Amino acid sequence: MGNKAVFLDRDGTIIKDNGYIGNLNDIEFYSFTTRALKLLQEEFLLFIVTNQSGIGKGLVREKDVENLNDYILSYLSENEIKIEELFYCPHKTEDGCNCKKPLPYFIDLAAEKYNIDIGQSYVIGDHPSDILFAKNAGAAGIFVLTGHGRGHLKEIGEDITVSKNLYYATKKILG
Ligand SMILES: [Mg+2]
Ligand SMILES: [Zn+2]
Repeated sequence: MGNKAVFLDRDGTIIKDNGYIGNLNDIEFYSFTTRALKLLQEEFLLFIVTNQSGIGKGLVREKDVENLNDYILSYLSENEIKIEELFYCPHKTEDGCNCKKPLPYFIDLAAEKYNIDIGQSYVIGDHPSDILFAKNAGAAGIFVLTGHGRGHLKEIGEDITVSKNLYYATKKILG
């Protein structure tokens, strides 16, 4: 039997969505993020999967995005949260890459590398593409209303689990 995992979106899910950010000062964690992830990691391996098309569009430098990602991982680590790996897609849609959510590339990659049972795993995100990402990979998606969530709620199917934020999504997953 494989490991269970949760694939977390970054912007609008674990940190506030402040647009195409490249500066550490633009990172704002939600107040509930560490509390939620501490609970989740008791049962699940945690990953972050984020589309960073600002790189492909030339709006932020890849190096700055990598700095931000490193900062996020070290902040979480200082709070005793282990993220197995953070994956980002630097491309814009027109690039036609194979790694941008909702393509299931990064879930498939992680599943292979970490022996993950995708059918027992979740995606949590604030965009319809996160839900499609879950569906394309064969995981369960939970849509959160933080970030862009509230604005996109009408695009989400009736059958999709919706939670107010990452903390409520966590409670739902853990029962
Ligand atoms: Mg997001
Ligand atoms: Zn890509």
